[in-house]
Amino acid sequence: MRYISTRGGAPARDFAGVLLAGLAEDGGLFVPEAWPRFSAEQWRAMRALPYPALAARLIAPFTAGAIAEADIDAICADAYRGFSHPAIAPLVQLGPNLWSLELFHGPTLAFKDMAMQVLGRLFDHVLARTHQHVTIVAATSGDTGSAAIEACRDRAAIAITVLHPAGRVSPVQRRQMTTIDAANVTNIAVEGSFDTCQDLVKSLFADQSFRARTQLSAVNSINWARIAAQIPYYAHAALALGAPDRAVAFSVPTGNFGNVLAAHAARCMGLPIAGLMVAANRNDILHRFFAHNDMRVAGVTPSLSPSMDIEVSSNFERLLFELLDRDPDRTTAIMREFRRTGIMRVPDATWRRAREGFSAWRLDDEQTLAEIAHLHKTAHYLADPHSAIGIGAARHLRAALDPPIPVIALATAHPAKFPDAVRRATGITPALPPHLADLFDRTEIYQTLKPDLDAIMAAVEASGRRSAA
Ligand SMILES: *Cc1c(COP(=O)(O)O)cnc(C)c1O
Repeated sequence: MRYISTRGGAPARDFAGVLLAGLAEDGGLFVPEAWPRFSAEQWRAMRALPYPALAARLIAPFTAGAIAEADIDAICADAYRGFSHPAIAPLVQLGPNLWSLELFHGPTLAFKDMAMQVLGRLFDHVLARTHQHVTIVAATSGDTGSAAIEACRDRAAIAITVLHPAGRVSPVQRRQMTTIDAANVTNIAVEGSFDTCQDLVKSLFADQSFRARTQLSAVNSINWARIAAQIPYYAHAALALGAPDRAVAFSVPTGNFGNVLAAHAARCMGLPIAGLMVAANRNDILHRFFAHNDMRVAGVTPSLSPSMDIEVSSNFERLLFELLDRDPDRTTAIMREFRRTGIMRVPDATWRRAREGFSAWRLDDEQTLAEIAHLHKTAHYLADPHSAIGIGAARHLRAALDPPIPVIALATAHPAKFPDAVRRATGITPALPPHLADLFDRTEIYQTLKPDLDAIMAAVEASGRRSAA
């Protein structure tokens, strides 16, 4: 499998190249040259596979030519060992034709573990073969950082530094990052916002000499490997509920558009997905796009679902590229103008195509709390704010589908990760699972720095030396 850039100005690469590069040199995102496709018969045969084997089967076409299939099998078998539910991604029925796909049974209690646990092992595998060492730097608003640290800790070929905005992530989220005692892990609290952290990371990548010296790499959701590792749970849920002989629909709480893009990929691979709901919080730029072709930056306001407090959804570029019949020049022009003006001008015909594949809905904080309370009262189900937004939007989608089909909402975080909102809505404080029960007794290790590029650079380089020692 070869990968091309959405902007058309970078050489095609294999999976290993795409994994290590993250972003393409021309500023675009890598996408597969062609979608692997499975027949109905092949999908049916996959129903019998346990989750790790299904994951390997669906990731293998993307790694073909770069990693041997037997190695992908072994990586997937190992990646899901630390999950606390035997089904890995269980389906829970909430009502007629309404299901919750729980993706939060991994080590850090958010869906990002589903892909990140595979990603850390893929890095190790590719790097060991070529005797390389990389420095991973990530900015986080909460969940990405802990999932990345958990996936990279104690891996010999990787040093990882995570920047989080000081005082702006929840205590559970911060402690999940800062209590990991591993020589290759560095945590920095930056005096600023998530955008400040993100800009610092971008500046590190823009400094070519620093980038080469430290062998900088990225694990955010622009990395194609993360999208690839998110496809299997869509197939897992759809097959369990009757696919490929019955269509299903999904509702996805969306931030950077990575998760819902993986659903789109599953559909391109032949899975019968009849509806895809993009669920947003009050930061509803994507909802405005799908509803009115109005994608316009308006400023982010903090919400009860912080992992969705994003305006510029990086992965949207991959969908745009598809909608424009994979025309890199038109993609580049629209993305450049968006960057410059804060307004994305998508031709009407292209927008109509987008609407054929996707719908969108939004829940503000009040509606999110109401949904959490309603779920608890009617289905005895505790949902975190992100998952509740997905479920609330799924109800809307279910009402719009005729004939009725199963609607599956993705539950992206464990309720104990956002206990304050859950308590406000239900009066119940969800308990952390046993492996994290002593989280608040553990020692934290992190440094607090001003948003000064030189200081951040020095800290990242020191982390690389420490982990190599
Ligand atoms: C990251 C995250 C999201 C958003 O996922 P994207 O792939 O960025 O769209 C939603 N919910 C939770 C809990 C998350 O951690």
